[in-house]
Amino acid sequence: MISSPIWNMFEPANDFPLLKEVQNVDVSIIGGGITGISTAYFLKKAGLRVAVLEAGKIGMGTTGHSTGNLYLIIAELLSSLDSKYDEEIIKKVLKSRASALGTIEKIIQEKELDCDFSHQPMYLFSKDKADKIEKEISISSKLGISNAEVANDNFPFEAKKILKYPEQAQFNPFLYVTQLAHKIVSKECQIFQDSKVEEINKLDSGSYNLKTEQGSVFSRYLVHATHTPKGIDLKFDTTLGPYREYALAAKLNNDNYPSGIFWEYSGKEKFSFRSYKRNGQRYVMAVGKSYKVGQSQNNSELLESLESYLKEKFSVKEITHFWGGQNYKPADLLPSIGRKSEGENEFIATGFSTDGLIYGSLAGKIITDLITGNKNEFEEVFNPLRVNPVKSAKSFTKETLNVAKEFFKDHILGSSTEELQKLKIGEGKVMEIEGKKLAISRGDDESYRVVSANCTHLGCIVHWNDLEKSWDCPCHGSRFQPSGEVIEGPAMDDLFNVSDNNEQIIA
Ligand SMILES: Cc1cc2nc3c(=O)[nH]c(=O)nc-3n(C[C@H](O)[C@H](O)[C@H](O)COP(=O)(O)OP(=O)(O)OC[C@H]3O[C@@H](n4cnc5c(N)ncnc54)[C@H](O)[C@@H]3O)c2cc1C
Repeated sequence: MISSPIWNMFEPANDFPLLKEVQNVDVSIIGGGITGISTAYFLKKAGLRVAVLEAGKIGMGTTGHSTGNLYLIIAELLSSLDSKYDEEIIKKVLKSRASALGTIEKIIQEKELDCDFSHQPMYLFSKDKADKIEKEISISSKLGISNAEVANDNFPFEAKKILKYPEQAQFNPFLYVTQLAHKIVSKECQIFQDSKVEEINKLDSGSYNLKTEQGSVFSRYLVHATHTPKGIDLKFDTTLGPYREYALAAKLNNDNYPSGIFWEYSGKEKFSFRSYKRNGQRYVMAVGKSYKVGQSQNNSELLESLESYLKEKFSVKEITHFWGGQNYKPADLLPSIGRKSEGENEFIATGFSTDGLIYGSLAGKIITDLITGNKNEFEEVFNPLRVNPVKSAKSFTKETLNVAKEFFKDHILGSSTEELQKLKIGEGKVMEIEGKKLAISRGDDESYRVVSANCTHLGCIVHWNDLEKSWDCPCHGSRFQPSGEVIEGPAMDDLFNVSDNNEQIIA
């Protein structure tokens, strides 16, 4: 089993360059996922000069770790929207998602992208949560969305209640983004990868200057397409909950690869599965076991339990791939797309939950309209500066209390140096040594990696992720390599590497 998503196994690695010089453009975009590349596409079309800066590889952030399903509803389901919003807003959300899905399809045709797009039905079903599905059937009907109840004898999986949404869609998200990036890259639309933005400066002129290790970009407008805001941002730090889940891909012993998007509700869990075929190779994949980042005791067990689920459903010949992916759930259930603060030329798109392939594309259009001064009918619904205190208050408090609990629990509890001796290969533990909280892990070569245990974002104590061998922050979802480098999340700076700076501590 390979630790990688399946999406990038059919195409050679991207060959976008590293930023090495100084660029002057109209708009700089940080992040080369579906949001960044879609925004670049729309801005270029509007005649603006653009530079995209991607820290890793284009399309290989969360976009390349998703499941590639495109659907009108949202992962938290329409019933949760219905409990917070009136019909007019819910209809606007659905209309915006329908229009973005249509735009994705048009872009695929216009640019002739070979990304395995197809229309597919979507099924929500359950063996033990019939009431949940019934509620969705009733709300969908009330909202006038095309849906149908399916009889269980026509359905290939055990279920008490089944809801079908016809004409949803699927694609390969990595191929969509990288091929689109290749089609738009030009003198006016420059795309750089391996170019992490390390510094953002606002100049007296009101322009922005971004610095990477080897280059620099000046622009009048700045778009943060980094999935989650970077650095400290009080609004998003308290209203976005970072969650992570795992995905598996497998080959089957037979041809029973399902057609469609399947979401199963079982007890408190939700699982999603689909098939994928390219170059004659077929896979089924499943996603599930969502948990709050840094707060799972045993990540390997989560993956094992997902594997059992997949094996119960299908005759699995071989599990071929596994990967993890992160999402940020907004307290008020709606993403934030638009101007970051009043009167500034800085834009953001975040809080997509697990629905961001559509929201990312939508964000590209809304942000372009805001920059070019065109009215966009959806800008108010997703405005990051919207005030919705009453409706989101409960979730806001829940996320904030959870953060505070983790923060204080970890600062109060101590641990002992004896544990250092007991640490096995592949394990990691936070220990208190000489009054300092250290995050210590042991690599394959038996050496200890010692980094500061305080997340560089807001100081919470990181937790060891035994499956992905990373230090994960339970407060806002930043993740770090055992040697301290930032992998993802709001942290801008690496964890302080004690091993490299104080050899005696690991002697
Ligand atoms: C397991 C899983 C399954 C999912 N399935 C679906 C699905 O089926 N359908 C759906 O609609 N959504 C799905 N989602 C959600 C969806 O994948 C995301 O919401 C979406 O991909 C976000 O796109 P993005 O471009 O905003 O972020 P990303 O794709 O993460 O792109 C952000 C980029 O910013 C870069 N970056 C960060 N910091 C810097 C920096 N300092 N300098 C330069 N670059 C930087 C990162 O390297 C990254 O590549 C899923 C998510 C997960 C976790």
